[in-house]
Amino acid sequence: MKRLQAVRGMNDYFAEDLVVWRRLEHLLRDLVERYGYGEVLTPVVEPAELFIRSVGESSDIVSKEMYMFEDRNGDQLVLRPEGTASCIRAGLEHGKFYNQRQKWYYFEPMFRHERPQRGRYRQFYQFGVEAYGYSEVALDAEILQMIESVWSILGLAAERAPTLHLNSLGNIASRARYRQALVEYFTRYQNDLDEDAKRCLVSNPLRIVDSKNPAMQELIKDAPSILDYLDTDSAARFEQLQDLLQAANIAYQVDPRLVRGLDYYNDTVFEWMVTGPEGGSIAACAGGRYDQLIESMGGKDTPAIGFAFGFERLLSLVDTVALLEQNRAESAACGCYLIAMHEKTLPTIMRLTEALRAHGHRSVEMDYATSNLKNQLKRASRSGARWAIMAGTEELDKGKVLVKDLTDGAQKLLSVEEALELVLDR
Ligand code: AMP
Repeated sequence: MKRLQAVRGMNDYFAEDLVVWRRLEHLLRDLVERYGYGEVLTPVVEPAELFIRSVGESSDIVSKEMYMFEDRNGDQLVLRPEGTASCIRAGLEHGKFYNQRQKWYYFEPMFRHERPQRGRYRQFYQFGVEAYGYSEVALDAEILQMIESVWSILGLAAERAPTLHLNSLGNIASRARYRQALVEYFTRYQNDLDEDAKRCLVSNPLRIVDSKNPAMQELIKDAPSILDYLDTDSAARFEQLQDLLQAANIAYQVDPRLVRGLDYYNDTVFEWMVTGPEGGSIAACAGGRYDQLIESMGGKDTPAIGFAFGFERLLSLVDTVALLEQNRAESAACGCYLIAMHEKTLPTIMRLTEALRAHGHRSVEMDYATSNLKNQLKRASRSGARWAIMAGTEELDKGKVLVKDLTDGAQKLLSVEEALELVLDR
């Protein structure tokens, strides 16, 4: 029989992986909530039309990577490839943008049919943040500040810290002028373009400057720069953002080649780059402004900005060993393992186990067997608990239990109340 396997590029995670996962998740939730962001949860499945209209037909995501299928009604659906479009759909559907400003975050799986490798998956998690109704450049700066603080919370020292690549794509009018200039430039060198670039020349010429193909780099180097096409407002805005970043001591590189693969961005765009598992540079986090998107999806004119961390990539930056050690130390410091040394003492041990849990004790396990104390104690120490609480008929007759400190082997005969007192550290 063929072995059953997960879909390529989709991962299973177990408790030992998820300890660090949950810590990081908690840390991010806590951080963004302190900046005033509230959580949203949207369906994994959305109408295909949503991403075709927002992300854009010419983007890689829509043209090559969407998991698209027809359901039993014949509706074209997709597994959500990114979070922004879903948030806007939800906001519009529930009237959340009507005369209101919103700050949202999400932590959800995304699906893209990319070529899987380490750091690039077909199901991956994004921790994303979106702010609606704010046009002020101070918010752009605050978002970058918030991301910067993640690096310092994670203890990523200077050389390991992701580097901020920043660009401005200007407004629609300046983008149109830039687009024209690119078409003229690349048309002159049409024979030197690769297949992708030839296609983009018609559909989305901005994406050519984003090409990673080494053979194209010489040509791209001399292409017009978006920064020469910004109108006065966008240029002033970009200037002000940089002033704010400098004042906040946030290092950045202006990268005029950073255009992002999605169609909907304007003005501020950014990526924080890290060295990936394969050695090259990959984005740990990316985003930008998309002031026209909500209107183009049928809403009122609403400025907006958002970004997403690639959660698995963030995890790969974290010092997992240190976090696990910290976690082990914490749970071992309070864990209890309860042992009935005789069938008759099982009800008491079960009652005590429940009592400990009811007291909010973090980690309480009981041994389900009622004989072979040596093996029971072996399982107790393997569980990582600090305390083993045991009762045989003899102890029970005296109304007592045996409490063993598994760190040093010291053992005491205590009343149930005293035992609770000791392990609950009151
Ligand atoms: P994007 O929506 O493409 O701007 O991606 C935002 C972030 O998600 C990126 O900076 C990556 O960290 C992460 N990401 C994107 N695609 C993948 C993938 N296939 N596997 C893992 N992480 C990804």
